[in-house]
Amino acid sequence: MAEAALFDTFARAPLRFERGEGVWLVTEKGERYLDFGSGVAVNSLGHAHPHLVEALKSQAEKVWHVSNLYEVPGQESLSRRLADNSFADKVFFTNSGAEALECSIKTARRYQYVKGHPERFHIITFEGAFHGRTLATIAAGGQAKYLEGFGPKVEGFDQVPFGDLDALKAAITEKTAAILIEPIQGEGGIRPVPKEFMQTLRQLCDDNGLLLIFDEVQTGMGRTGKLFAHEYAGVTPDIMALAKGIGGGYPLGACLATAEAASGMTAGTHGTTYGGNPLGMAVGNAVLDVMLADGFMENIRDVSLIFRQGLASLKDRFPEVIEDVRGEGLLLGVKAKVPAAELMLAMRDEKMLGIPAGDNVVRLIPPLTVTVEEAREGLARLEKAAEKLAAVEMKKSA
Ligand SMILES: *Cc1c(COP(=O)(O)O)cnc(C)c1O
Repeated sequence: MAEAALFDTFARAPLRFERGEGVWLVTEKGERYLDFGSGVAVNSLGHAHPHLVEALKSQAEKVWHVSNLYEVPGQESLSRRLADNSFADKVFFTNSGAEALECSIKTARRYQYVKGHPERFHIITFEGAFHGRTLATIAAGGQAKYLEGFGPKVEGFDQVPFGDLDALKAAITEKTAAILIEPIQGEGGIRPVPKEFMQTLRQLCDDNGLLLIFDEVQTGMGRTGKLFAHEYAGVTPDIMALAKGIGGGYPLGACLATAEAASGMTAGTHGTTYGGNPLGMAVGNAVLDVMLADGFMENIRDVSLIFRQGLASLKDRFPEVIEDVRGEGLLLGVKAKVPAAELMLAMRDEKMLGIPAGDNVVRLIPPLTVTVEEAREGLARLEKAAEKLAAVEMKKSA
């Protein structure tokens, strides 16, 4: 094995996966892991889904990439289908979540600019948010650990405490362009925004001429049991960023907007080389084929109910290990009483994967195609992990 020549930016677990099948990942040694991390909510249809494999293969034999100098039929169909199934009129395709956010931020600023308000370029965000790793999106996220050492913070992002309505109202000035929020904070530790707060945000934006931007990079594309998490609150944004699950593993993102919100994004104002290329569009359309089929979202909600009940009973039986269970659909988080890293390790010993998050949370975000039996298998492995951790805690206190 050649010695790697990689940046040291990631602390990686010593696991080497060679292939995947549905909710399973198989290592080079042939060990099977139950994947309740989905590559951070990306493998929305599990690994090697036959419909996606077929779409990728057949497009690969035709044309991979042509640039946005030409019409791309796959962009036309995928944008139409996303618009028909959302609040949006228009779509810009990207390769990642951060780029979808960059497009959202630029769209909001340009909207204010063409409306005669160039001074309105500030975006209000919330503590605990995560919007990506570009210079603008680390400024939007506002987390010191991601900003440190990277020069001056990009101007124009004002952060208020999570859920603090008075602070939010006080932060709105004549310079404010938009409010940006995740309906459920993902990296921040599966922290749902209350429905009433979402509705208040919409009202505040309408009253003050601001645009409302939802970052649904993690919550969108069926993750919560609806195509978009904001559907639960009964309010729609003006702009929305998508990525992660939309490509099922192919690097794909999108910025969706109403025609009004996108009115500043005229020819030449924004662009991308790879975004929306034929390969990505073939896969994105195939993901939607599956997600829009009858019963897909119902199945997510049904499995979620059973999985959640199981987690709640684990919490009752092992209060020294699990403090809280939260989230929506298959975007669930277990707030650990022990260090979350220890719970992750104990799960790994049971050959089960989850994803760490802020607030000492382990995210349980299986592929949306997970069956009830597979969810029960996950609960059985979590139970073993919790049992072992509880025994360790007992010894400590004895
Ligand atoms: C993952 C994530 C992003 C960033 O997406 P990348 O594809 O890593 O750039 C932005 N916002 C949220 C809510 C995310 O979960």
